[in-house]
Amino acid sequence: MRILVIGGGGREHALIWKLAQSPQVKSIYCAPGNGGIAEKATCVPISATDVNRLVRFAEEKAIDLTVVGPEAALLAGVVDTLEERGLKVFGPNQAAARVEGSKRYAKELMKKYGVPTGDYRVFSEGREALDYIRRRGAPIVIKADGLAAGKGVVVAETLEQAEQAVKRMLQDKAFGDAGKEIVVEERLTGQEISLMAFVDGETVVPMVPAQDHKPVFNGDKGPNTGGMGAYSPVPQIPTKIVDQAVQEILHPMARGMAEEGLHYRGVLYAGLMVTEEGPKVIEFNARFGDPETQVILPRMKSDLVEIIWAVSRGRLSETSIQWSDQSSTCVVMAAKGYPGSYKKGETITVPEPTRDRIIFHAGTARQGDALVSAGGRVLNVTSLGDDLRAAREKAYQTVDQIGFDGAHYRTDIACKGLNV
Ligand code: ATP
Repeated sequence: MRILVIGGGGREHALIWKLAQSPQVKSIYCAPGNGGIAEKATCVPISATDVNRLVRFAEEKAIDLTVVGPEAALLAGVVDTLEERGLKVFGPNQAAARVEGSKRYAKELMKKYGVPTGDYRVFSEGREALDYIRRRGAPIVIKADGLAAGKGVVVAETLEQAEQAVKRMLQDKAFGDAGKEIVVEERLTGQEISLMAFVDGETVVPMVPAQDHKPVFNGDKGPNTGGMGAYSPVPQIPTKIVDQAVQEILHPMARGMAEEGLHYRGVLYAGLMVTEEGPKVIEFNARFGDPETQVILPRMKSDLVEIIWAVSRGRLSETSIQWSDQSSTCVVMAAKGYPGSYKKGETITVPEPTRDRIIFHAGTARQGDALVSAGGRVLNVTSLGDDLRAAREKAYQTVDQIGFDGAHYRTDIACKGLNV
């Protein structure tokens, strides 16, 4: 089988690492890929949102299956165009990917189909938004409706912060059209978990849960990032809560989308807050999470190609997934200055991978024989262990062996999972 993976981050490296283990795979291409992916796949310099060139490439190379990583590619319509040409692809089409592309739309679906989430209101007028926020009081959450690369969410502790966020989004248009409407939402409290599932219409096959670490500094301090690390399983969240989320959130959402006439095929990612009233949705994503994928796929014993091939042909109900009992931890190493402006081009040295120590590249590139940094999140250091403590220790031991100037990372990844 010839596979094309679209994207070029740690998530796509993890996908390719796992896909390459399948005996069914003959060759893998990646557009655009990165310095680490280049070791396992042929990287082609096509942007993840250049739909026409991606489709032409898939036709030229007679690709059997395309796997879409980033949301921007889904929302650009790459799945729709590939399917129109009769090509097999893993990922929801543009209409279904709106569950991620519009927070308003996701909220409306949740309300209609009884999926638990925080109270909310939608505004496009600053004055109305401010009146509502003053009535509700802080803390309160302000979200740009559209995609904003993880930066369009402000959890405001004070009224001033909330007012500033409204002004930045609606008046200053800091996120352009993505911020033309805002969702003002109740602040939820509890622990967060990421629960992903393979979805094919109404069939839902959940993956094991993971926990992400979005803020840049230890103790969940500082601005939000794309994710500074993850671990799986999440021992402090009881299995019955996860089962409850599958029954009360993933299943009704899949049924609701089917009822809306959406043809959802791919991964549905639920970002959840485990509140005192039970799990509630913070957001839906229409694709694999990053960095959650980097801890979940190493725990998957089944052949990923078989699963996504089944989804892309509408046969997920015939498939089951086996998981390892091992724990995994991923520590993200970021460039100096990230998530603000950061320097690229630092030389990186990495140790050889082993069976339970994997380095998934994100922002890296090859310059001749050298590996250099080329993005904000640079490397994802993942380790497996018999328990979370062992996985975590191994990940940090590997981090110590990696050299690049200015690298920063959190030192408390997985700590919440150890206090049980
Ligand atoms: P991503 O980059 O994952 O797509 P996003 O921009 O879509 O992120 P959200 O996941 O909706 O943003 O929110 C980012 C973070 O803000 C969440 O992980 C959570 O910590 C916090 N957050 C969002 N909504 C709420 C809420 N209602 N209550 C409390 N915290 C929230």
